[in-house]
Amino acid sequence: MAHIYLASPHMSEEGFEQEYIKEAFDSNWIAPLGKNVNEFEKELASAVGAKDAAALSSGSAAIHLALKAAGVKEGDLVFCQDLTFSATANPIAYERAVPVFIDSDYETWNMSPEALERAFEKYPQVKAVLPVHLYGLPANMERIMDICKKHGVPVIEDAAESLGSLYHGQHTGTFGDYGIFSFNGNKIITTSGGGMLVCNLEEEKAKERIKKARFWATQAREPARHYEHKEIGYNYRMSNIVAGIGRGQLKVLEQRVEQKRQIFAYYQEHLGDLKGLAFMPLHENERANCWLSVIRLEADCPVRPLDVMIALEKEDIESRPVWKPMHLQPVFQDCAYVDNGDVGATLFRQGVCLTSDTKLTEKELERICGIIRGLWR
Ligand SMILES: *Cc1c(COP(=O)(O)O)cnc(C)c1O
Repeated sequence: MAHIYLASPHMSEEGFEQEYIKEAFDSNWIAPLGKNVNEFEKELASAVGAKDAAALSSGSAAIHLALKAAGVKEGDLVFCQDLTFSATANPIAYERAVPVFIDSDYETWNMSPEALERAFEKYPQVKAVLPVHLYGLPANMERIMDICKKHGVPVIEDAAESLGSLYHGQHTGTFGDYGIFSFNGNKIITTSGGGMLVCNLEEEKAKERIKKARFWATQAREPARHYEHKEIGYNYRMSNIVAGIGRGQLKVLEQRVEQKRQIFAYYQEHLGDLKGLAFMPLHENERANCWLSVIRLEADCPVRPLDVMIALEKEDIESRPVWKPMHLQPVFQDCAYVDNGDVGATLFRQGVCLTSDTKLTEKELERICGIIRGLWR
């Protein structure tokens, strides 16, 4: 039987992506920019309801430029969600700014508003706040935005995993001053690699900030006939070919969200009765994109996460632990951490990300659930 991936690229059945690529080939707009890039920016901004967007080479690049656009400089503090992938935190270090890691809560698995409030008391000089919508679960944006507005500090939402997730009917990534999305190979839609920075400030300001981000992303080249540079730039722009894949993938986003949610519902239905097994939290008034279906084996569970991962691995089925919190990472060991009862560390110890590939068949899902159920017998 074929290897089953956690989440692998899933191009449209209709071949939309190839049509856009063909158009780029036919017009020889392979690189650098071109129609696909411009259209992909407009189409994504319109799909999520953002004021403006810049297509970039990765989600990490988008976080980096969001920090720069928010005015974060060397030595500045940034409140960063502790439970996340390292790509959230690394760009803070690129700017020689200093992360302070904020623990999660069990209600959302994302940044705890209580811990955030305590962080503001301790470090009122903070320059930006970086919450994440982990696994497509929306963070508590109502409370987080309230707190950050009160302190006048900009918010950058890491929505790399949550494209298509809705919170109170609004897309994640559009609450903060800036939002970022990723089109890396394992994300809900992919361009093979890529990212998007969106700005949600009022129209004119958003256009200006995104224009500046595009400028930094193209080596900070001043508008002159010769090559003139007043700032350090980056090679962060998305290519016209890659953007063509993105335009095609965007057409199937709603379908992918539906498929991911159905996969999660299947696991809930077929594993929900197992002792000590809990699911990632979904809430009313939200639509999580369920990028990955994550289970939690609580303290009273007779089975350990490693047992589940090994049993699946033996059948060539991929699964993963939950992200390891940043404050436990050797590279960030000297950074401050605002604790909320070590929720992130508990989720790391107890969590398992189950296969959530949108190409999974019902037969395969049945098989996966059978293997997992076998461990409880
Ligand atoms: C994937 C991911 C990123 C980075 O995106 P890339 O496009 O791979 O650079 C950032 N944050 C989170 C939470 C992610 O999962």
